[in-house]
Amino acid sequence: MATSKPHVTVQEVGLRDGLQSIAGVMPTDEKKRWIDAEYAAGVRHMEVASFVPAKLLPQMADAVEVIAHALRYPDLIVTALVPNLKGAEKAFEAGVHRIVAPISVSAAHSMANVRKTPLDMVEEFGRIADLREAMGRRGPTRLIAGLSTVFGCTLQGDVPLDDVREIVLRVLDIDCDIIALADTTGHATPGQVDRFFGVLRPLAEDRLTVAHFHDTRGMALPNTMIALQHGIREFDASLAGLGGCPHAPGATGNVATEDLVFMLESLGYHTGIDVEKLLAARAIVQRALPGAALFGSLARAGLPKGYSNPQSETKAAA
Ligand SMILES: [Zn+2]
Repeated sequence: MATSKPHVTVQEVGLRDGLQSIAGVMPTDEKKRWIDAEYAAGVRHMEVASFVPAKLLPQMADAVEVIAHALRYPDLIVTALVPNLKGAEKAFEAGVHRIVAPISVSAAHSMANVRKTPLDMVEEFGRIADLREAMGRRGPTRLIAGLSTVFGCTLQGDVPLDDVREIVLRVLDIDCDIIALADTTGHATPGQVDRFFGVLRPLAEDRLTVAHFHDTRGMALPNTMIALQHGIREFDASLAGLGGCPHAPGATGNVATEDLVFMLESLGYHTGIDVEKLLAARAIVQRALPGAALFGSLARAGLPKGYSNPQSETKAAA
């Protein structure tokens, strides 16, 4: 039966990770339409905003309104990114289900991004955990340590596994629920993912459960395959692979949600997401962000002739 297949969670992060790195500001109503379309496609985890100063990132100035819209769906798990304690306070107040704080393992990236060393950022993360306790949000809000630039960094280059291991061990001492490993810059290769998860998963098996891959070098799906073998069961993705960097021509964003879902379903995992509806939802992003580069192999080639959608099969069987 389709529903007894092992479940893998796919979290849409295009509204945060995808949008934050492109120049055009998406109107709030279009963001809401995007959320609606993905919800209708079966997506039940979305990272929809970040709480950074609007002056630094006008794209996220409507965070509270976008979150309120997402929260109207009672079974949608809504996540916000917060770079510091102040952002966390706003996110707790906004009522999100999950807060992710980025902790850059690369010292160079951390200084450039949040003007803090990785260890300072771990301390800030500890303060966010304390704030959660003080605000009585420990039950309703899950706390995620989003380790970024884990597999390499555009500024620093190589990121040693020992550096990642040290941050994981320190984060484990903090009262958080989930540790996510992010290949922020698309450096990761399957061999490296195998090595890193081989060392890190045994340290934190019950909490190290999420991976976040960018497709800069076309390695996001192979990396996902390896992470699956190590027991990772939640992956971030961005519709149409939205993202990239205006200063790096050819750079791409997260793995395309539709490509990831297509692959996972082909392997027999259950995502609950309808890939045809995802493909249709790309039109919203296209229309709202004229000129933005969209990616994704499935959209380019179309679904294979005779493709049978596992989601319609599930419905037919029910
Ligand atoms: Zn990312």
